[in-house]
Amino acid sequence: MMKITGCRTHVVRVGHDESINGVHIVLRLQTDAGLEGISYITRLHDAAPAALSVVRLYVDRIVGMDPLAPEAITDRLLLRGRPLPWFEARAASAIDVALWDIRGKAAGQPVYKLMGGARDRVACYASWRIEPDKDLDKVARSAERHVASGFRAMKCHLGRESLSRAVEHMRVLREAVGPEVDIMVDVNQQWSVKQAIAYTRALAPFQPYWLEDATSNVDFEGLRQVSEAIEIPTCAGETYYSIASFRPLVEHRCVDIVMVDQDLGLSGALKVAHLAEIYGLKVVPHLATEILAHLIAAVSNGLTVEYYPWALPLFKQVPPVESGELVMSSRPGLGLELDESALSHYAYAGGN
Ligand SMILES: [Mg+2]
Repeated sequence: MMKITGCRTHVVRVGHDESINGVHIVLRLQTDAGLEGISYITRLHDAAPAALSVVRLYVDRIVGMDPLAPEAITDRLLLRGRPLPWFEARAASAIDVALWDIRGKAAGQPVYKLMGGARDRVACYASWRIEPDKDLDKVARSAERHVASGFRAMKCHLGRESLSRAVEHMRVLREAVGPEVDIMVDVNQQWSVKQAIAYTRALAPFQPYWLEDATSNVDFEGLRQVSEAIEIPTCAGETYYSIASFRPLVEHRCVDIVMVDQDLGLSGALKVAHLAEIYGLKVVPHLATEILAHLIAAVSNGLTVEYYPWALPLFKQVPPVESGELVMSSRPGLGLELDESALSHYAYAGGN
């Protein structure tokens, strides 16, 4: 039996091409077979040193366990049945992703094939550059750059501006990209139920592809009311870090599209994707492009991948985007190789 022997970790702060500089913890989970499972977790900011100590504590707890038995490991780490702070869920998710990488490398297969292998190219959308506080000429130019670099879909963030400003933003964006490019709208829970309905009706002529996090993510009834009132598909889920949170979301038809974050781990995200499939719902990922693309390629109800490039410099090669689709690597595991010089170059002083 293969055994987990320990880990190496790196804390880095890195961004790329106008994306936000993210503070990431890179985990390299090691085994007695010489296979190393890699993963990263993100959105840590000043919490990185504390998160790092939880990751190391969790790895210590599983030394000697079989990396090919992730459910046994998750049981030990997540104390199933008890609510868990997100911080600990995130640390456990780093380990889960690294375990999938080891499993793929041991089998000589890419992770998305082991998880289901529904497709080897996945639709993706550009999810950076288009922010609400920029002038509208810049919004138009940024959107044109995304189209020029091969994207067929992109996301914009709204939420705090007046209704007329929001409409103007969408009009400029739609005119810049033309009728064939999909535009996702994310409001990060900033609207009330009535605002969400009123704003979305005003934006409808510009054909948003989906409305994301329309209102508070703990207000399941509010999400359901918004979803029922508008014709544009709704999407939510990025803030949930427990699979149980998705039960009311899908059971009460609060959304049309379920979004999963890496905090669930690839194992938890796969369970949620299967739950969504039972209810006829699509699934999409939140951030961690290089990792969660595997889930979307794996499952039949995978819709599209959020392409956010803030961790790209950490890897020697990443899946290319061709005709609006991410082309999955055929290399074993996650198909990612860490760039040692980048890990040194971007080392975050507040971390290691
Ligand atoms: Mg979002």
